[in-house]
Amino acid sequence: MATGKINVSVENIFPLIKKFLYSDHEIFLRELISNATDATLKLKHLTSIGEAKVEYGNPIIEVKVDKDQKRIHIIDQGIGMTEDEVKKYINEVAFSGAEEFLDKYKDAGKEAGIIGHFGLGFYSAFMVAEKVEIITKSFKDEPAVHWICDGSPEFTLESADKKERGTEIILHVADDSTEFLEDSKIRGLLVKYNKFMPIPIKFGTKKETLPKPEGAKEDEPAPTQEVDNIINNPEPAWTKQPTDLKDEDYKSFYRELYPMQFEEPLFHIHLNVDYPFNLTGILYFPKLSNDLNIQKDRIQLYQNQVFVTDNVEGIVPEFLTMLRGVIDSPDIPLNVSRSYLQADGAVKKISSYITRKVADKLSSLFKNNREDFEQKWNDIKVVIEYGMLTEEKFFEKAEKFALFPTVDGSYHTFEELEAKIKDTQTDKDGTLVVLYASDKEAQHSYIEAAKTKGYEVLLMDSPIVPHLLQKLETSKEKVSFVRVDADHIDNLIKKEDTAISKLSDEEKDQLKTSLENAIADKGYTIQLEAMDSTASPFIITEPEFMRRMKE
Ligand code: ADP
Ligand code: MG
Repeated sequence: MATGKINVSVENIFPLIKKFLYSDHEIFLRELISNATDATLKLKHLTSIGEAKVEYGNPIIEVKVDKDQKRIHIIDQGIGMTEDEVKKYINEVAFSGAEEFLDKYKDAGKEAGIIGHFGLGFYSAFMVAEKVEIITKSFKDEPAVHWICDGSPEFTLESADKKERGTEIILHVADDSTEFLEDSKIRGLLVKYNKFMPIPIKFGTKKETLPKPEGAKEDEPAPTQEVDNIINNPEPAWTKQPTDLKDEDYKSFYRELYPMQFEEPLFHIHLNVDYPFNLTGILYFPKLSNDLNIQKDRIQLYQNQVFVTDNVEGIVPEFLTMLRGVIDSPDIPLNVSRSYLQADGAVKKISSYITRKVADKLSSLFKNNREDFEQKWNDIKVVIEYGMLTEEKFFEKAEKFALFPTVDGSYHTFEELEAKIKDTQTDKDGTLVVLYASDKEAQHSYIEAAKTKGYEVLLMDSPIVPHLLQKLETSKEKVSFVRVDADHIDNLIKKEDTAISKLSDEEKDQLKTSLENAIADKGYTIQLEAMDSTASPFIITEPEFMRRMKE
């Protein structure tokens, strides 16, 4: 028997990292800006605890594109690196300085919002660059260093004369990646990934209009000045305390998230938890149509204010993917497959926390302002009904606030409805028979017939109603939902007959037979009772079970 050690050499690994580490080449910018942000946040933390005796100031991160030289520069004013640190953090692939920092400073480091942790992000630079330079000066009193690497495992390290603290990364963009030398491309990436990162990011300058000096003439143009073009909002609403935000702040953040969306959200839910997992965020209920095929993927997922994805499938329950907003959590494992995600314990907890928060918010809206809740019902019912159908936990809570509108426009909870109709709409076995219409126009005569008999008719017209009714029938004892045009309506304990028909019983029988002969499908029943009480001469009904089978 022989044992041995597989020889992994950097020469083999390096091209693999380059090629397969990330499927998306564009994330190199996100990774380098994350590192620049980490470097700045570390300095902030160290100055705040007195470990770094330098002025923190108002550091920014700058991104510059030099199309002629085919270079991208990312410059920060963070902690920088000494020569030893470059050797340790950069030359050792997969050694994470971020992780080391977190180990050392524990919770305080976590609170600082450090992003990195795998120790691989930096190398994503080689997905688009044929050569990478680092010029860096530590906040410690040590000389600056210059590291150069052309994507092979060889590098050079020499001293540099950089005076200011911080790090400059220079990417020599490869010929197959020149798209990244376009300003518009870089701006697009910055807006996509870094729009809410915590350190201001400068990309170029812009003109700012100044107020006109006093005594200026009408037609004199207002003076302008060049100012830094900062592309991000370092303090997005979800990172603040709900008590510090007004309704208007939530609305303006919504506009910031969805600049192309002109309709205001109906209401918001601020998520904020730090145990047993970390999660912040704001969810918005948009006006939803009656259509289940609405575009999903509108909740954005962030980690420490870095955009990750707008596909939250597997992280929030499906019925909530119809909402909008942001979720930010460092605790969602992102380097794993979606199917694994669904089984992950932390993700399950997150998902049920979000469900609970949404249910609680709806419940408090219902309790605190019933009228307003009723007005919104049509725009939100799709989410609630779908949630009741698919999430048991949500069903239990939603049962208390889910509304059942009648054809006449009044709204009842199920409990209220039950109290209202239990004396008039029960069949021989004592089962509560709830009548509903799914189409007010088409079922008009049936609705009228039922109403004249003193029955309450619900209007249930959303696409999932048949399934939801089935669910309600199984979860409640002795309740049966019957569409107004079904034949069960006959089985209800009738009120006093108020016959006004001019036909004799014999004539009625004749009419019934000839009508029945006229209809080929024997599944239908002719009911002449309607003659007694409504404008319709008779109604044709079909058994509820048959219709459901067709649906
Ligand atoms: P991670 O961010 O996961 O730790 P990276 O490969 O992105 O891994 O970076 C490796 C390490 O290199 C960082 O942890 C940090 O110590 C160091 N580093 C990278 N970029 C910078 C920078 N701009 N300023 C200071 N240190 C940096
Ligand atoms: Mg990193």
